[in-house]
Amino acid sequence: MFFITTALQESIIAIFSPTASSQPDFAQLAEDIRRWGRELGFQAIGITEARIPEQDQQSFQNWLDQGLHGDLDYMERNKDLRFSPGLLHEGTIRVISARMDYLPAETETVKVLSDSEKAYVSRYALGRDYHKLIRKRLTQLGKQIEQAVGEHGYRAFVDSAPVMERPLAQQAGLGWTGKHSLIINRQAGSFFFLGELFTNLPLPIDEPYDKNHCGRCSSCLDICPTGAIVEPYKVDARKCISYLTIENSGPIPEELRSKIGNRVFGCDDCQLACPWNRFAKHTQENDFRPRHSLDNVELADLFLWTEEEFLNKTAGSAIRRAGFECWLRNLAVALGNAPTTDKIVNALKTQADSPSELIREHVLWALQQHQANP
Ligand code: SF4
Ligand code: SF4
Repeated sequence: MFFITTALQESIIAIFSPTASSQPDFAQLAEDIRRWGRELGFQAIGITEARIPEQDQQSFQNWLDQGLHGDLDYMERNKDLRFSPGLLHEGTIRVISARMDYLPAETETVKVLSDSEKAYVSRYALGRDYHKLIRKRLTQLGKQIEQAVGEHGYRAFVDSAPVMERPLAQQAGLGWTGKHSLIINRQAGSFFFLGELFTNLPLPIDEPYDKNHCGRCSSCLDICPTGAIVEPYKVDARKCISYLTIENSGPIPEELRSKIGNRVFGCDDCQLACPWNRFAKHTQENDFRPRHSLDNVELADLFLWTEEEFLNKTAGSAIRRAGFECWLRNLAVALGNAPTTDKIVNALKTQADSPSELIREHVLWALQQHQANP
């Protein structure tokens, strides 16, 4: 059921009052959209034109030309849609870019990362998958706009289509692109999701965020365990632990395994090192709170999950994306990097004869790190 707030009723009256012109007051509507966005749980809303600046198109093309996208073949496809968002949804002339903070409160981030018997899961993946939640809220926002101005064309996107969300967010004034290639906001750091609502309404656009506050800082480049930030603003996906543990479905290159440490799903090091994340805000969403103690759990315990347990415990979680086989692959690497204990070696041995070649090979590598025979 849809709920009309008093504020919304006032806006509708204001927009359609007999004294108003036949055109909606788009400046007022933009303000209302910001307020509705906040009421729906977004921390910031910005509005921009449905186009990607030439400079961002060029950087993206250079990144592809250098092969830094690894096996992310889909990045090479649909470039016309990426560069002209209006083509993705007919009639789109504006993109409403929305920010939702995800950092859960009371999680032992640094302590777990430095405890090599524990599993480190990227902070964004500790709770429920964000895609559905954000898409639903953006769609609610679209409906709310519809209640105010009547039928209009809109569509919500969350990391699901060829949408260049970061350049759009920067154009919409939500922050600047850091040297680690993520968007940073001065008041909120970078631990947030972005989502977009495409619309055909001629809303006034926000000032792009054209300052860059990275200055001479290079903490993200210095801390990156695998040297994946090959130069400022350029991440080599083939070396990035996020890519290797989530997107990559094949073996993890042997020369990078020891550098992965205990990171079993994604990596936050470049964000954790960023001084602007002193200002990161904790999430307001219960759905983003850690589930199944994933913020503080031993690697060996996770490795002993059956496939059924994996499917049950990761239902509705981004971790499902990796699949059970890659989950065990990642855990095997982390267990290979863990201290040699009976618990760890015995856990590894349970998968030494796995029917999966991928798992067997990573388990063998891990056991070799402990100089133990399968
Ligand atoms: S996510 Fe990790 S591996 Fe990837 S660039 Fe950041 S620090 Fe490096
Ligand atoms: S760590 Fe420093 S260089 Fe990297 S994104 Fe943050 S401010 Fe910029």
